[in-house]
Amino acid sequence: MNVESKYVWHQGKIVPFEEATIHFLNSSFHYGTGVFEGIRAYKAKNGTAIFRLKDHVDRLFESLLLLGVDQAPYSKDVIFNSCKDIVKKNELDECYIRPMFYVREGGWGLTLKDALWDYSVAAWPWDKYHGETAKHKGIKAKVSSFNRNHINVSLTKGKISGNYVNSVLAKLEAKQCHVDESILLDRNGFVAECTGQNIFIIKNGKVKTPMPYLILEGFTRDTVIQFIKNNKMNFEECLITRDQLYLADEIFIVGTANEILPVVEVDGRTIGCGRPGAMTLEIQGFYDLVVRGEVEDFSDYLDWV
Ligand code: PMP
Repeated sequence: MNVESKYVWHQGKIVPFEEATIHFLNSSFHYGTGVFEGIRAYKAKNGTAIFRLKDHVDRLFESLLLLGVDQAPYSKDVIFNSCKDIVKKNELDECYIRPMFYVREGGWGLTLKDALWDYSVAAWPWDKYHGETAKHKGIKAKVSSFNRNHINVSLTKGKISGNYVNSVLAKLEAKQCHVDESILLDRNGFVAECTGQNIFIIKNGKVKTPMPYLILEGFTRDTVIQFIKNNKMNFEECLITRDQLYLADEIFIVGTANEILPVVEVDGRTIGCGRPGAMTLEIQGFYDLVVRGEVEDFSDYLDWV
């Protein structure tokens, strides 16, 4: 992936990519205290639209609150508009948007008390998270030997940079085992989520997803649940075990970057018939339409650039 934005909204102004730099003696870099979001903009009927931008901005501020920061350096309106402006300035019609709050000065001694916060946002073209064929053929996953961050170790409802070391380790393990993705269990052995995606399984027509207590409650997960409920599909948020993964008819993982991806193999066991299942494909098809403003009931989720 080539992470290059021609322009970056950096500390209050739009500057060329090369000028958006931060010194290495930056405490967010050292201690993982940045907070960020991953957002997508899509080419829709009437131009480019950002999907669920308001929700992403709200979660970005919630992540700051989780770190005990109640005074952000910019208002929600500024952050909201910065995301739109950076897409426009880079002349992108479909892209990934990465806003981030970080400590600009201070924050040493493992305290954020004297920290001065700032913010930057970049946007770049990023087509498919797991490559072009994954969407249609599905991916292979493994159950990770790493547990998901524990709720008394990190604050799992925030997109706090340091939390993602857990994801990086699990993803690295997946790659070392020649599969695409890791599924992380909680400390009690129940399925939690993937490295940057929520997970759903389908068994005998019933859709199940882990309960929200430990996971990041993703907006893609929420959009999918709304579709499932609107269509009166059989649905449950519940504890899911590793053997339920192996015995599922269908599995799919969801997230902003990843969108809706079928999982066709877990720990070397074929899931269902080894191809993306019918319900997964239906949900994938719905998601492709919804993000492009083609589902009337969900059109409020689009913010036009
Ligand atoms: N879980 C984790 C750990 C994530 O990082 C993400 C990506 N933000 C998700 C789930 C999915 O969240 P969303 O659908 O809001 O992108």
